[in-house]
Amino acid sequence: MHGPHTVAARRMAKRAAIQGGLEAVSLLARAGLMPGARGLGAIFTLHHVRPATHKQFDPAAHLSVTPEFLDTTIRHLKSEGYVPVALEDLTSFLALPERPGPAMVFTLDDGYRDNDEFARPVFERHSIPYTIFVSGGFVDRTHSIWWETAEQLIAKLDEFVFDFGDGERALRTRTMPEKYAAFDMLHKSLSCTEQQAVIARLDTQAKDAGICPTGIVDREVMNEAELRAIAERPLSRLGAHTIGHVNLAHSPEARMRDEIAKSAERVADITGETPKTLAYPYGDRCAAGPREYAAAEDLGFELAVTTNPGVLTERSAGSRYTLPRISLNGYYQRGRYVNALASGIPFAFSKSA
Ligand SMILES: [Zn+2]
Repeated sequence: MHGPHTVAARRMAKRAAIQGGLEAVSLLARAGLMPGARGLGAIFTLHHVRPATHKQFDPAAHLSVTPEFLDTTIRHLKSEGYVPVALEDLTSFLALPERPGPAMVFTLDDGYRDNDEFARPVFERHSIPYTIFVSGGFVDRTHSIWWETAEQLIAKLDEFVFDFGDGERALRTRTMPEKYAAFDMLHKSLSCTEQQAVIARLDTQAKDAGICPTGIVDREVMNEAELRAIAERPLSRLGAHTIGHVNLAHSPEARMRDEIAKSAERVADITGETPKTLAYPYGDRCAAGPREYAAAEDLGFELAVTTNPGVLTERSAGSRYTLPRISLNGYYQRGRYVNALASGIPFAFSKSA
């Protein structure tokens, strides 16, 4: 039994558990009771950076932070002695016999246009290098972003009739809890699986409802000219993020390698340089495993990042294709959480939720 209210309640409980963990950890950190937890630093993940939108139905709210929060985060990390390191330089940094402080490494996934408008000025003000992970299919408007499509479609519908993979189901999507439940069900059907068929059905339904999935990409994601302009800025680098933003671990081997190799070529077309870094789309253990880590190394990348939460340690130098990252998360935009996030500890608290 998973009615909409149960789903909404679970969502809130999970958020509260993580938040509770963060509260506890930020108290411990302030009391100086967590020596060493920050390790050698952290790689941070961002998606959208933009002013608060205050949307009523906002199922991907965790993927947005405000430019003010980014600014606060950087100021805070600086005051704690963190030193900015470009992801491309991380291997050399980890190899140093002595380091000036823990590293703060910034990455932004998917190439949203707001990265240029709102994040770049913050990074430039603080002289912080950053790497933007680009999916070729988003740049060329040949692939849609399912979570953006789904948000718009479900926001519009009173009933969502959809085949999640085991036959058509009709879901009421009139109230907010019902809309969130439908989104969660779609999310679940797309996690840990090959996604193409479900995404194709979603795109067809969106078009029938007057929503253009690649039009959303065109509005939200930087095009080639914009990426070339941002790549020319001194602090920025572009990294590979596949062509179709696919779940690599659930793709056949040849397609998996092709997705990675072609995306490196696409980035090289834009910047004139083969990218040294790769971010596995979705990036958790369902989306990238030993086969993908080996492919990243084999295809010539210097390093690759996951979304498995964690901080950098002495061992990170020896596991360059499975580097953990910490999401700067839209739900927890308070400066005092940053220490806790950078310590990596709250994830242990939230595991059970
Ligand atoms: Zn992504």
